[in-house]
Amino acid sequence: MNSLIPIKSFNINNVNFDDDNDDGNQQDHISGIEFNDDDVGNGAFRSIISLLDIIIPILTTSTPPVLKIGDKINIKLGGDGRNVGRKQKHVMLTMCILNEEEAVLSPAHQYSICLYLGKESYDSLSIVSAKFSHELEQLKTNGYKDSNNTIWPIELFFSGDWKFVALVLGINAATSNYFCLYCNCHKDEIEI
Ligand SMILES: [Zn+2]
Repeated sequence: MNSLIPIKSFNINNVNFDDDNDDGNQQDHISGIEFNDDDVGNGAFRSIISLLDIIIPILTTSTPPVLKIGDKINIKLGGDGRNVGRKQKHVMLTMCILNEEEAVLSPAHQYSICLYLGKESYDSLSIVSAKFSHELEQLKTNGYKDSNNTIWPIELFFSGDWKFVALVLGINAATSNYFCLYCNCHKDEIEI
């Protein structure tokens, strides 16, 4: 699987980090899923296009087909953080194909594109999102070209809980002057 969808690693604190030497024996002495503090900032990600290379043929050949030639592929990106143990955090970014409709509610249809150890913060997320910006730009502008050279138009969606969406948009807090996730209204404009 790794050769079809290569997984690359990175470190948020070191932009050039791209080392694939996984220390397999480390798992044995880590209790549960807590990680060493030295590992904060480490993460892994995989290409959205290489995931589509696997997913799209499945969706076009299913019965009934989820995707038919001419359809637009609606890709939703999302993410969230979770606490691990007392003070550690994992952040995961996922994508799903909204054309699958209710199937996306199943975790098996949420494809993780990135996982890193560390905080949900604007700085971390902007470093991570930079890894996808080129691919996303390409998909949005040119669509996705499958192995039969069919071009599928792509529409991108984004969702998350308040905290995650606010972070990605660079909003500080629900009480800040410009708090709205949808427009640039000022908090003084709120009608109470
Ligand atoms: Zn607004």
